[in-house]
Amino acid sequence: MAKIHELSDVLADQIAAGEVVERPASVVKELVENAIDANSTQIDILVEEAGLKSIEVVDNGDGIAAEDVSMAFERHATSKITTREDLFKVHSLGFRGEALPSIASVADVLLETSTGDEAGTQMHIKGGQVIGQSLSAVRKGTDISVKDLFFNTPARLKYMKSPQTELANISDIVNRLALSYPQIAFTLSHEGRELIRTSGRGDLLQVIAGIYGVQNARKMVKFKGEDVDFEIYGYTSLPEFTRASRQYISVLINGRYVKNFQVTKAIIEGYGSKLMVGRYPVAVLNIKMDPLLVDVNVHPAKQEVRISQESQLQDLITKVIYKELSKENLIPSAVKNL
Ligand code: ADP
Ligand code: MG
Repeated sequence: MAKIHELSDVLADQIAAGEVVERPASVVKELVENAIDANSTQIDILVEEAGLKSIEVVDNGDGIAAEDVSMAFERHATSKITTREDLFKVHSLGFRGEALPSIASVADVLLETSTGDEAGTQMHIKGGQVIGQSLSAVRKGTDISVKDLFFNTPARLKYMKSPQTELANISDIVNRLALSYPQIAFTLSHEGRELIRTSGRGDLLQVIAGIYGVQNARKMVKFKGEDVDFEIYGYTSLPEFTRASRQYISVLINGRYVKNFQVTKAIIEGYGSKLMVGRYPVAVLNIKMDPLLVDVNVHPAKQEVRISQESQLQDLITKVIYKELSKENLIPSAVKNL
């Protein structure tokens, strides 16, 4: 008898889930990114037991048409790209069509969604098996709840850190998504207690104030600059307002939160000798660039990216921040609005 056979879809999804959903915070990230891609203006995230018991994301976005709902849970099924060319100029946060099938393979998922013009759909999937599908109310948007994450992957469950750490990871990702989208109103609550709320009024400094406090927001300076390939803008802290780690530096490329050591380093270098050893600024850096110059298809979680002309971008960032911080009377201008 032949020894080689194809894995079942459920098993293949579980293997993919190992990369896409590492921990509760990855589920939050994928679900919120879907809500953002669906043009939502309000996104509410409700979490229980640091996400292991339940993660619910409610949005007021485009919703999914009844005929598409079951497709949304198929592997590599997406509405966001079609051709090879699309892959090189991705405008949405998602495009791999992996999140929903991966999550549904390792949890108990209930999706309720409606485009607002027809009856909505409710879909229940647990461990990759469809439990039921029915009609639901017409309320434009999507409400997805993910319960008992990793119930069928005990090894993954064991690998979870303390609830405080998992919750801190969730807060961190919601903070970064809120900083990336000041025009979207976000809330995050844990067991009924509200941890994050942003107004959605579109002002980045206001979001910074919501996350780091008004006092700290007063210690942020605005910067802006461009060259032929890149446009950058954002806020970075005065040398007197620093933290002991780099993780308070958020880098966003075309609206996507990314991790990029070289870009982070360029921000720090903009401080010249103004920082004490082991201290790092708090910063939010938005980079706008031709999507052709950035490859987001490096890692399933899409956080690592490859940038062409990286050193040119680094020079621009360092130069703009250095110039801003060298001004006399460093008083952030926008702060009076707070
Ligand atoms: P991707 O985001 O890479 O396309 P997902 O598995 O995350 O893949 O989602 C599959 C599809 O389901 C998306 O392409 C989108 O059409 C639809 N979808 C998922 N979440 C939402 C949502 N909150 N609102 C509207 N459509 C959604
Ligand atoms: Mg997605």
